[in-house]
Amino acid sequence: MKKISIAIDGPASSGKSTVAKILAEKLSYIYCDTGAMYRALTYLAITAGVDMEDGSALCRLLSQHSITFKQQSEGQLVFVDKEDVTEAIRQGDVTNTVSVVAAHGEVREKLVELQQQIGKQGGIVMDGRDIGTTVLPDAEVKIFLVASVEERAERRYKENLSKGINTDFETLKQEIERRDRIDSTREVSPLVQAEDAVRIDTTGMTILAVVEAIEAVISEKLGLD
Ligand code: C5P
Repeated sequence: MKKISIAIDGPASSGKSTVAKILAEKLSYIYCDTGAMYRALTYLAITAGVDMEDGSALCRLLSQHSITFKQQSEGQLVFVDKEDVTEAIRQGDVTNTVSVVAAHGEVREKLVELQQQIGKQGGIVMDGRDIGTTVLPDAEVKIFLVASVEERAERRYKENLSKGINTDFETLKQEIERRDRIDSTREVSPLVQAEDAVRIDTTGMTILAVVEAIEAVISEKLGLD
């Protein structure tokens, strides 16, 4: 079967990464978590004490380091140079500042270039905010995942609990809303549904049901029905 490109976009905690990973594994495709790249740069900026408002300084930082992925049987690891930052980039300090870093046009230009390199051969499932609109505008399949903010906060709350982290539900909800607001209102490639994307509201759906819904879209687009 022809190897295609699948773009999955949507707001924070809408389940993109979870379903993108499962789909990539089922199809034996590459999985690219573009959010992890913006997070890795944010982690670098925090560590190096670089001002998050200074786009040029962030770009300089980016050019001095490498951000790479390593596929392991237990999942994908994210590296900054030789440092495994998989866990570090999911911490609150990164999560609550990443949208400021991602709003700089010059930062996006560099990371989009990198993402397009990764995706150029096809056979990829890429998730983010601007994949269908900007990174892979020719992707054969574009999905826009949404869910109510209550459900997204609930999912994040349970995920944290399972990791032994006790968080306040209301605070989580406010953080998700804030991140969505910054991502949707920035000037350069804001979070917006691509015209040709299929919108799936995952509120109340299981992960399996979401995966099946996307598989149905893939089959339909490829004329396999
Ligand atoms: O997907 P994740 O929640 O890990 O993304 C973290 C942040 O990175 C987003 O809130 C957004 O600010 C930024 N991002 C982006 N464009 C992408 C992927 C992520 O601006 N393609």
